Amino acid sequence: MRVNAYAAPAAGEPLVPTTVERRAVGPNDVLIAIEYAGICHSDIHTVNGDWGPQPFPVVPGHEIVGTVTEVGSDVSRHAVGDRVGVGCMVNSCGECESCRNGDEQYCQQGMVPTYAGTDRDGTTTQGGYSTHVVVDADYVLSVPAGIDPAAAAPLLCAGITTYAPLRRWGAGPGRRVAVVGLGGLGHMAVKIAHALGAEVTVLSQSLKKQEDGLRLGADTYFATSDPSTFEHLAGRFDLIVNTVSAVIDVDAYLGLLAVDGTLVNVGAPAEPLSLNAMSLISARRSYAGSMIGGIALTQEMLDFCGEHGIGAEVEVIDAAQVNEAYERVLASDVRYRFVIDAATLA
Ligand SMILES: [Zn+2]
Ligand SMILES: [Zn+2]
Repeated sequence: MRVNAYAAPAAGEPLVPTTVERRAVGPNDVLIAIEYAGICHSDIHTVNGDWGPQPFPVVPGHEIVGTVTEVGSDVSRHAVGDRVGVGCMVNSCGECESCRNGDEQYCQQGMVPTYAGTDRDGTTTQGGYSTHVVVDADYVLSVPAGIDPAAAAPLLCAGITTYAPLRRWGAGPGRRVAVVGLGGLGHMAVKIAHALGAEVTVLSQSLKKQEDGLRLGADTYFATSDPSTFEHLAGRFDLIVNTVSAVIDVDAYLGLLAVDGTLVNVGAPAEPLSLNAMSLISARRSYAGSMIGGIALTQEMLDFCGEHGIGAEVEVIDAAQVNEAYERVLASDVRYRFVIDAATLA
């Protein structure tokens, strides 16, 4: 079936309305009528060619929420009418050690990204800035009724990207967690870490968003542009989740960790980072990275957000505003995620 979509025709060019082909619903497929698609910074990097050549035209979008309108004959976990979500991957080999461990995002054959990827049948994947998508049922998540569907969309990337390290490194009662950067990822990290019961601190360049940070669940908020912040908070945190994609002074942030503390990067700067090994050795600290999460963990995150009434802070836009929204994301002028209303694509 051909469906309406917004696509980048070539690297760095504005997105334009177009149509894309969706495959016929196979035995294990789900056809989803898309309601909302979040705009992730990765979408912009991809269509701008920052991450290398892409199979243009590219329909971005990997924060997808919609309702099931058709299921294949073998599908039992989703039914017509269910509200569902699709995140950053739509397939993986299912057989390697990572896949068997529920870490499909680290599939040794390479997971299939939701857009600009090559699916296992050889076709190019096209993402969620569209009216419909067909996805293998094993990569389709259930979205709990308690979350507004527009606010749920960003959970599929920003939510799981922050939930995964918070869970893995034990954010919870009695633990001090710092979140570096209060953007799309950071604001989700604050909400989730707070709901997990941790003491939450935001480390932001300035105090401009302090009021928001405290409202979203942070206990304290500090400006990293103020050198006294690093003296004042030395040795304080059990976990720091760095959501910033710029080069940071790694040693300065490691110095904020307690003994056995971990600094986790979920932001991916284009330039290499450097550190002094003594920053780790002197207090048995770790420096780690984390990318989205497996399907089971993504479902756990959605269920957790449903129980705790957590969604993203969103600004819903028409599809025709997508290029303007990209400009605003690049200017950090969004609180905190744009979400496309897919009804405006019809
Ligand atoms: Zn994303
Ligand atoms: Zn695999």
